[in-house]
Amino acid sequence: MRKKIAQAQKIVIKVGSSQIISETGFLNLAVIGSLAETLSKLIALGKQVVFVTSGAVAIGARKMGYIKKPQESRQKQACAAVGQVALMSVYAELFSLCGIQVGQILLTKDVLENTKRKQNVMNTFIELLGQKILPIVNENDSVSIEEIENIPRFGDNDNLASVVASLIDADLLILLSDIDGYYDKNPREFKEARLLKEIKQITPEIIKNAQGAGSAVGTGGMYTKIEAARFATENGCEMVIANGKDPRVILEILDGKEIGTWFVAGAKYKAELGAKHNG
Ligand code: ADP
Repeated sequence: MRKKIAQAQKIVIKVGSSQIISETGFLNLAVIGSLAETLSKLIALGKQVVFVTSGAVAIGARKMGYIKKPQESRQKQACAAVGQVALMSVYAELFSLCGIQVGQILLTKDVLENTKRKQNVMNTFIELLGQKILPIVNENDSVSIEEIENIPRFGDNDNLASVVASLIDADLLILLSDIDGYYDKNPREFKEARLLKEIKQITPEIIKNAQGAGSAVGTGGMYTKIEAARFATENGCEMVIANGKDPRVILEILDGKEIGTWFVAGAKYKAELGAKHNG
């Protein structure tokens, strides 16, 4: 039983592109519907929830007729602009069917570097949460191209989610992925890889074994999730990585069940996260 997780009140939940985009390249409505049902249950239980979503570029590219994700930044930015509308309109509709209103917050990195802007964003979160409106967050890809060009640190939604967790002083960050959690080796390359249930310290070895490339639609891979774990746990926030193919897993995590990998808050950070990831 993971008591600390079961007690979490302020929760940031992030989904990767691979959960919400189906094999056809279009939105996976079954998964999004289930997310809406699940998050609305949490809000009804009195939890404060912020949702961070990837997927805008992928769905935008599909809508604009690209067969593969385009390579040029300006094309990807255009995809983000088109895809963000598609994403939000589906989220708004499906969440409202579950009784939840949503608000969109598009963040750029400079928000954090400017005290006034940072305060403005925090105020927006506080007001939305106070009114039981679900903030849906993404990086403003049409303005900032860090995520698009795969530059590590804040340039991906794993790190963005950990920053949002610190902005709202969350107790728990859940990163849903296409994989069951953190393995001691990349399980796509090594059959004998073992899932780690609990990580108290982010050691150089943990970082090293997170370097394998991510999935075709995902951007971050495991490396950025470890960066996010470091930031979140250092800020006193618990973090869990779990498989998001069935979003109801969130309810099980919040029941304190041993699902995915739990990064225990307060874990001391031991190594330099300097190396550029290759995910
Ligand atoms: P998402 O879009 O769901 O965030 P990503 O593709 O970005 O997913 O990241 C998850 C992927 O990271 C896994 O599918 C796996 O291929 C890769 N990976 C690399 N190293 C590891 C590891 N040590 N444990 C688990 N997954 C790893």
